[in-house]
Amino acid sequence: MLVSSPPNLRYLTNYAGSNGLLLLTTNEAYFFTDPRYGTEASKSISCKVQVAKGPLIEAAAALIKRKRLKKIGFETGWLKHEEFAKLKEAMPLGASLVPVGRIIEQQRMIKSATEIALIRKSVLVNSEAHARTLRRVRSGVREQDIAAELEFQMRMLGAEKASFDTIVAAGDRTALPHARPSTRRLEENELLLIDMGASVEGYASDMTRMAYAGTPPRQIRELYRAVLEAQLAAIDAVRPGVLAYKVDVAARNVLKRHKLDRVFIHSTGHGLGLEIHEPPRLGKKDQTRLEPGMAITIEPGAYVEGVGGVRIEDTVLVTEDGCEVLTPTSKELVKL
Ligand code: ZN
Ligand code: ZN
Repeated sequence: MLVSSPPNLRYLTNYAGSNGLLLLTTNEAYFFTDPRYGTEASKSISCKVQVAKGPLIEAAAALIKRKRLKKIGFETGWLKHEEFAKLKEAMPLGASLVPVGRIIEQQRMIKSATEIALIRKSVLVNSEAHARTLRRVRSGVREQDIAAELEFQMRMLGAEKASFDTIVAAGDRTALPHARPSTRRLEENELLLIDMGASVEGYASDMTRMAYAGTPPRQIRELYRAVLEAQLAAIDAVRPGVLAYKVDVAARNVLKRHKLDRVFIHSTGHGLGLEIHEPPRLGKKDQTRLEPGMAITIEPGAYVEGVGGVRIEDTVLVTEDGCEVLTPTSKELVKL
């Protein structure tokens, strides 16, 4: 099998660079990279490292020929068409390319103790960056300045970067689930949504928290309470053996009681680890059985046009007897 997905490469070999390719045979592993990463790779990677001068796919094809390999699996979601074409051309007669699904991603769903420790670290850095930033947020501050401060703080605390583009939305823009920070200023009597994650040694965290500039009116308090109730119900549903979609149902049922199910326009959560979005998906259709060691998010939301949107998100670990909410940040609606 040929592995070309960067997160899968990192998972299997520890290589975190941008140009690598791994060929796994039944009993051997060959790692290909270019001269820029040669020294680093041979130090940190335990399998055979081949430094290629040209395209890695050509070096891999040459090895396939030499070893007379007959069936080569490739990752359909990651092998570029250009590389596929080159590989096909170079394949020995009678050999075939076999598409394989996300089998490594399936393995990655269950985190090792080392991975869990890194996710914990990432979660703590993220929450601390949020706390330090929030102390300085007042009405009049621009969304993009809040986002810059959040990312600065997480890096100062040891993250190598944000695990995704930080979302900061003020006022009516909170009704857009994936708002990009703009020059809009947070005004008095407005909601503020912050959705952020840190990346620590490659491992992601993910958290959404809300704040309000002033004293929130009843309508906002009720919206907030309904989403919080849905989030707590979903967390309550997380334990080994439960099908992923059941957790989504738990959140959706609560929002239905509050007549907010129609404005809950995304799934309840997702797995995370080396990528910010990994299987399982805690959505309507996912039949994955939850198992201890899975790291997931729980993040129901309700987005009411003209009023605003509320989302509350934690990073959660599935444990032997239920789950552990890793995110330490309080879920109270913060008054700025
Ligand atoms: Zn998020
Ligand atoms: Zn998320």
